[in-house]
Amino acid sequence: MRIGQGFDIHRLEEGRPLILGGIKIPSPKGVVGHSDGDALFHAVTDALLGAVSKGDIGQLFPDTDPKNKNQNSELFLKRALQFVQEAGFKIANVDTTVILQAPKLAEFIPPMRRKLAVLLGLQESQVSIKAKTHEKLDSLGRQEGVAVHAVVLLM
Ligand code: MG
Repeated sequence: MRIGQGFDIHRLEEGRPLILGGIKIPSPKGVVGHSDGDALFHAVTDALLGAVSKGDIGQLFPDTDPKNKNQNSELFLKRALQFVQEAGFKIANVDTTVILQAPKLAEFIPPMRRKLAVLLGLQESQVSIKAKTHEKLDSLGRQEGVAVHAVVLLM
């Protein structure tokens, strides 16, 4: 078995789209990023890469490469999954925590889970997305950013 851990954080600014888990979430503030800024997909991508010791998302898809500008983060996730498969592993489960002060994510978690499960070829029961606020503390609590933690287990 292998375990992988990933983390990502993006700044939020007024008037930008907020995309998490491939789902566009209605919000006055959205992510600042070179790609589409999907912090959930980025954290899971890094967890997968970490589990097979294949570096990190910034090495594979540098933000200095114009090809990655506004890139759909599904591509990063699919490439990480390829590394996992090439190394002879399958994903046992994925667990994530999204930290976002606002808006509330509860109603968007089912479609986010479905999307992540489909992209990774998993059952929804193998994919967990939890959401928390930051209790109004620090920059995340002031709605200046969104952060995601992810762990994966491979077998
Ligand atoms: Mg990112």
